[in-house]
Amino acid sequence: MRPKEIMLNTQPSNNMHVEVDDFGDDHVASSYETPLRADAFEMDDDLKMELIAKHFEEIMQILGLDLSDDSLKGTPMRVAKMYVKEVFSGLNPANKPTVRLFENKYNYSEMLVERDITFYSHCEHHFVPIYGKAHVAYISSGKVIGLSKINRIVQYYAKRPQVQERLTVQIAEELKKALNTEDVGVVIDANHMCVSSRGVGDTNSKTGTAHFSGKFSEEGTKTEFLNYINANVQL
Ligand SMILES: [Zn+2]
Repeated sequence: MRPKEIMLNTQPSNNMHVEVDDFGDDHVASSYETPLRADAFEMDDDLKMELIAKHFEEIMQILGLDLSDDSLKGTPMRVAKMYVKEVFSGLNPANKPTVRLFENKYNYSEMLVERDITFYSHCEHHFVPIYGKAHVAYISSGKVIGLSKINRIVQYYAKRPQVQERLTVQIAEELKKALNTEDVGVVIDANHMCVSSRGVGDTNSKTGTAHFSGKFSEEGTKTEFLNYINANVQL
């Protein structure tokens, strides 16, 4: 047994019978920082994948699936790879996009809006997808950011087990830091598979969240941003 494996207690824990579902279905977020353990990255990706595959195989076995079936035998490692290298890769700060700022040479002092940024995330209460659109705006404090970087910041925070409220604030806080301005607005419109494909089974509802700070908390600027998001702009 490798030393790190000792930490993973696979015995049923005492809180197995705690009523956890109510908490998850209410989508309560505890903090805007993702709750990560201090030793989160002491294990390397290869060991994480090996262990996740092993444990996912156990889940499949418990469900009664026959792992010798050709179609199923690769699933534990596929899931492990997908978790570590793709859908939860944003947990690791090593994957955080580096942001380069440029001088605002054109002295453009209006808001810049990037709307309809498609993202895929996962609800941290059920580990099923949340997907939707993020709309981001800022007013330059003298520096500007490459447009693709806004997209990358959204994707980085989306690739974590998330709650939508936290995703919204994390994107906003990162942009404030990167752009050295408080004048940032973020609106997210998303579908939660835990609401549509299970639980209440509502396939039509969408969840909206927003974070407005600096000038974006003023009515005029906020309205301009929201109008832009809602406008049917044909380019
Ligand atoms: Zn959920």
